[in-house]
Amino acid sequence: MNIAADKPRGLVWLRRDLRLADNGALQAALDAGFAPIPVYIHAPGEEVRWVRGAASNWWLHHSLLALDAELRRLGSGLVVRGGGESVRTRYGPTTAIEMDRLLAETGARAIFWSRLYDPAIVQRDGMLKQAWRERGIETISVPGNLIFEPWEIKNGSGEPYRVFTPYWRNVQSRLPIAAPLSAPMQLPGFELASESIEALGLLPTIPWDRGFHAEWEPGEAGAMEALEDFLADGIATYASDRDRPDRRGTSRLSAHLHFGEISARQVFQRLGSEQAPGLRALAEPYLRQLGWRDFSVSLLFHFPHTSELPLQPQYQEFPWAQVDPDLLAAWQRGRTGFPIIDAGMRELWATGYMHNRVRMLAASFLTKNLRYHWLHGARWFWDTLVDADLANNTQGWQWTAGSGADAAPYFRIFNPITQGERFDPAGDYVRRWVPELARLAGKAIHQPWQVGGVAGYPKPILDLGETRADALAAYAQMRGGTRTDEKKPYPQITQMKSGLKTGAD
Ligand code: FAD
Repeated sequence: MNIAADKPRGLVWLRRDLRLADNGALQAALDAGFAPIPVYIHAPGEEVRWVRGAASNWWLHHSLLALDAELRRLGSGLVVRGGGESVRTRYGPTTAIEMDRLLAETGARAIFWSRLYDPAIVQRDGMLKQAWRERGIETISVPGNLIFEPWEIKNGSGEPYRVFTPYWRNVQSRLPIAAPLSAPMQLPGFELASESIEALGLLPTIPWDRGFHAEWEPGEAGAMEALEDFLADGIATYASDRDRPDRRGTSRLSAHLHFGEISARQVFQRLGSEQAPGLRALAEPYLRQLGWRDFSVSLLFHFPHTSELPLQPQYQEFPWAQVDPDLLAAWQRGRTGFPIIDAGMRELWATGYMHNRVRMLAASFLTKNLRYHWLHGARWFWDTLVDADLANNTQGWQWTAGSGADAAPYFRIFNPITQGERFDPAGDYVRRWVPELARLAGKAIHQPWQVGGVAGYPKPILDLGETRADALAAYAQMRGGTRTDEKKPYPQITQMKSGLKTGAD
């Protein structure tokens, strides 16, 4: 093994910190005098109930390739395990088995990692940490990809916040944060068997990802480029443009942040730097969104049942409608007859991304007009978003459905016509994603039925007025505590168990 002979070896277990700069686990290994061996273990079975979806797997594949190339450039490389045989036995304890093999092959006695906060991962990491420690393996976990750890921001009574504004005020009172760490200039080499990234089977089996390549560059370099592009072209108009799907007014950093190709601290520091007060004032609305990201993680960490169950318990009694598979499919594939909803759902299918405003509209349509349980939408997003993130997705869906923290009140039901007219006033976003409507002008772009419809484009699948009234009646029923709908509880709810330990390892 061609590794710095005088140094002990340390395994750096990379998960969603797929970068070299500001990588706390890698730096901790170097600082402690170890020769780091970067390891990625593919263990989807350990992510149940939210095993990574198809779009997200596509991103991961390319991100791992980019990381391996960067590590090689510095003289090291990425050791990949968990593909091949392990993929076939994917519900076994892959990480424990593969780590044991690596410890034996390398003689390493220390494992370093950055924390993650999703409930299943917190539980898995805690069990592994205990088992390794009992065998005398040194385990060092460092803060994950947040501005502050979820347990650092609590209210005056020591409880986690359920409302964003005081949470954010508390965060702001603790600024500035420490400067991000630099990337190492070089790393020791080693010769160790690695599986190929292709063997992990992350790419889709149908050519559904064609549109992804033009849109995204997964990896640390792509993340930095997206940040710099945003600073050059987006930050100055972010406050006014962030709600406009017809403009490229947001940073599109979400998948890069999810996979840790860039750290929240790096973005925060670059935008909110004390040395650049002008930039900082301009960046305030953007930094607030990073605050929402931390807030979502904090919510899921402290209320781990909320990836399945409502944060507000009275919503367990909400009379969701029975799903009609045809209507659900119409929503999923952008054939509802409401142009802004269909544009968003088609953007999602084609690129693995949907603008935030349209995510809210599509989610409102599903949970309020169709009155389907938010989990039907959350699961679809989970499979099709390249930035699928359990904390943000859960928070986004629960917020829209009304059952989450600081949620949109149930009676606020977005109207896709007026929202389309307001946020896509010339209809450019709709024209891009719903080409059947490209020739329509003026108000007809958001209401094609006004001009007698368009051949090939569906008529509206529901009546906005009637479904709105039904939704409000359902809401009143829940508040009144009377349950007339005999539908069985949503199956996942009955199976869900909470009681995960709180504390990330
Ligand atoms: P920007 O506007 O540039 O924001 C910068 C960063 O702040 C984002 O990259 C993201 O990390 C964070 N952020 C922005 N808005 C939010 C928000 N509302 N809540 C939490 N963090 C936010 N975001 C995901 O990353 N993954 C998801 O799976 C996800 N699912 C969502 C589902 C629904 C129903 C809704 C309404 C929102 C969801 N969001 C999700 C939040 C938001 O839509 C995306 O983060 C945003 O559209 C990403 O684009 P951007 O990077 O250009 O955002």
